Amino acid sequence: MKKLLSVLAAILFTISACTTGDMQESSSAEPEIKKWAIALHGGAGYVSPDMPEDRKEAYYAALEEALSIGQGVLEDGGTALDAVEQTINYLEDNELFNAGKGAVFTSEGKNELDAAIMDGSTLNAGAITGVTTVRNPISLARKVMTDSRHVFFSSQGAEQFADQTDVERVDPSYFYTERRFQSLKEAQAAEQTGYLFETDKMKEWKYGTVGTVALDINGNLAAGTSTGGMTNKKFGRVGDVPIIGSGTYANDLVAVSGTGWGEKIMLNVSAHTLASYMEYTGASLQESMDYLTDQVLEPGDAGFIAVDKYGNISMKTNTGSMFRAAIDSEGNKDVAIWDE
Ligand code: ASP
Repeated sequence: MKKLLSVLAAILFTISACTTGDMQESSSAEPEIKKWAIALHGGAGYVSPDMPEDRKEAYYAALEEALSIGQGVLEDGGTALDAVEQTINYLEDNELFNAGKGAVFTSEGKNELDAAIMDGSTLNAGAITGVTTVRNPISLARKVMTDSRHVFFSSQGAEQFADQTDVERVDPSYFYTERRFQSLKEAQAAEQTGYLFETDKMKEWKYGTVGTVALDINGNLAAGTSTGGMTNKKFGRVGDVPIIGSGTYANDLVAVSGTGWGEKIMLNVSAHTLASYMEYTGASLQESMDYLTDQVLEPGDAGFIAVDKYGNISMKTNTGSMFRAAIDSEGNKDVAIWDE
């Protein structure tokens, strides 16, 4: 009901703004068009600004490096899809992040990976969930999009599909990291005492998902997201990331990637909600982002990155912090963790 009312309010706002001319900034003004733009995240949640200095530096360095990879692709005239895949490949290989190497553990002590990619120019997408032997899940998701008749493969089926491709395979032990294993132990000990995962402490244990959104020089948008999911997730749990429209979505207007509490992101079909709000109300990218993070979702739920067809970028979280970085063809650049 609350949501219905806010959608109605948005429509009324749009109608009245159009009549009074207030929408100039968001719809009728000549937008400044960037040739290309890219934004990425390395997970949202709450990380204390008091984290050790060397760790902070390692995160900033990784965000910078990932950004330069995507920037290089786009500057050379490469596609948004290539920029998304290659940036995410780097983040998947970096064990600071909860994707690929460094993924969190399930309650059974495994690493089960989810990923999705979407091509905004064709509305085609590929997704996989529960894979345990694919080094770079985003690359397998892309193969699902391009080399199969389907959109979404799960667990054993996804592994079987991987057998038919040239994506790199690894022993499941490749994904082990001591830090994430200790988080599992902590989460399980806390669970014994009745601690629920939605409490603040538990929220710290599930973040680090990675995602990228990009606009290329041909005006195409793409979005991708890759994750190990949530620490201590139960048998077969699927999060928002591989659900097209929830954690990942792109069309010819906007590309979105999310991170945070997957169940909340899914229940609000979040990435698609941002895109629809923008399309149906004529709101700007930032207004649509504010609507999603401030009105649809609740404080502490999630963060998102998005780029629109003009190359505008928005990165916002309601969790307190989000590892993020962005740059566009005009040299506007932002690399941040907190609200610096
Ligand atoms: N959204 C992811 C999930 O719930 C977790 C994250 O973003 O870190 O699977």
